[in-house]
Amino acid sequence: MFDDVLQRLGINDVNSGVYADGWIDQPGGEELVSLNPATGEPVARVLTAARDDYERVVESAQQAFRDWRMTPAPVRGEFVRRLGMALREHKRDLGLLVTLEMGKIQSEGEGEVQEMIDMCDFSVGLSRQLYGLTIASERPQHRMMEQWHPLGVVGILSAFNFPVAVWAWNAAVAAVCGNATIWKPSPQTPLTAIAVQHIVHRVSTEMKLPPICGLAVGAGIETGQWMAADERLPLISATGSCDMGRAISPAVAQRLGRCLLELGGNNAIILTETADLDLALRGVLFAAVGTSGQRCTSLRRLIVHESNADAFVERLANAYKSVNIGKPWEEGVLMGPLANERAAETMMQAVETIRNQGGEIVCGGNRLDRPGYFVEPTIVRATADMPIVATETFAPILYVLTYKTLDEAIEIQNSVAQGLSSAIFTDRMQEAERFLSPIGSDCGIANVNIGTSGAEIGGAFGGEKETGGGREAGSDSWKAYMRRQTCTINWGDSLPLAQGVEFDVGS
Ligand code: NAD
Repeated sequence: MFDDVLQRLGINDVNSGVYADGWIDQPGGEELVSLNPATGEPVARVLTAARDDYERVVESAQQAFRDWRMTPAPVRGEFVRRLGMALREHKRDLGLLVTLEMGKIQSEGEGEVQEMIDMCDFSVGLSRQLYGLTIASERPQHRMMEQWHPLGVVGILSAFNFPVAVWAWNAAVAAVCGNATIWKPSPQTPLTAIAVQHIVHRVSTEMKLPPICGLAVGAGIETGQWMAADERLPLISATGSCDMGRAISPAVAQRLGRCLLELGGNNAIILTETADLDLALRGVLFAAVGTSGQRCTSLRRLIVHESNADAFVERLANAYKSVNIGKPWEEGVLMGPLANERAAETMMQAVETIRNQGGEIVCGGNRLDRPGYFVEPTIVRATADMPIVATETFAPILYVLTYKTLDEAIEIQNSVAQGLSSAIFTDRMQEAERFLSPIGSDCGIANVNIGTSGAEIGGAFGGEKETGGGREAGSDSWKAYMRRQTCTINWGDSLPLAQGVEFDVGS
């Protein structure tokens, strides 16, 4: 089944992972083996970028940018429109490859490709909407306005868990904004990136476009470090762990570049006394167990009113036990494996730490005895002062905490260092509005009667505090990919100065 899919997507046994103004045949970096996390077996090999390959990628992106920035934005939108059409053609295959290489279930794999298509559609519209303001000038016969120009070559670092959608969040918007991009995907998921690059290559060659989207797969973090330190990349858009953000951000700041950070979360749902518990059960289950707890927005903490806690945990534990865990491409499976051996070991260490810190495992807590990296989804009765509750373990572990008053619940919710996604389940308008007010959730995403994960692309996506403050995808996120220019035009025949300043030698 997968051989055909790989073939249609242009994936061979050995693949170049570097694209400059075309594929570089024999890049000189370390070889990477992509594994199927459901079996632990190799899928294919990838040749990665050495420093001189990386140089070629940057140089061709710089060259491409010179023309692309002067291409009218709606014409740039046509490239993205065709890309969206090509992605539609490959939706099933590319979704399956995401499933094969990353381990998310087929419906989520296809959903991720749909997210790319949605980003393309959004960006096509955006290509006619890159507008600036006209501002009232204090000087007579003057016009003041702002306009937005392309930035240059944008570096994209992406995480393994959304191996293709995150690229589209960045690349589709960056392209209509007039930028070239260089993508360094996660070493965990190089094949999905190569498959996307084949699609990009096809569309841009058909349109005879310069290579505005480059690719530099790296075997580790070195390529990302080159990008962070590279003055030729005015913007680094980096998605991944808070540790990665802490490493990247100073390197970019050192050269006074811009960083757009989409980092880790420690997301919570507050379940109030008045919540619709049927709705909440479905919301909690998908948010905590979906993608095997490997979404940045996955639910980590459930903060339940003490009156509901015991009964709700019992229902939730029963639902957990009926989740079908298995090969993510198989019918009826709801939970696939974790990404790799290290992720499974990290989860098992976390379970041990939970026990040492006094947490009670309600269900799960084990690794499954089968090939691949399968674990049980786990519910823990915990307290907010357990240090592990404040950290993001990238695995399906849900901490259940209890509260008495809404103020206390909000305080618990905001007490962690990360600030990505949050939600409240309530049937009381006062509680919902309080949660959404300035004294409510401190996160970038705050939902009512919806779980923490599964955002639509139309909104700006991202989080506060250690999540990094970046916003991507919809709304006005495009502004991060452009430079603002304020222009004042004097159409009169005198030269009045702002603030009434007089500066005249008299003539
Ligand atoms: P990761 O931090 O290990 O890697 C992310 C990317 O950064 C990879 O391409 C990696 O090679 C690169 N990288 C890592 N450390 C680097 C360094 N020191 N210098 C240069 N490059 C470096 O993350 P991951 O394990 O792939 O993904 C999971 C993490 O990503 C979780 O913390 C999750 O919450 C977060 N994430 C956040 C968002 C968001 O939008 N906020 C989305 C997806 C994932």
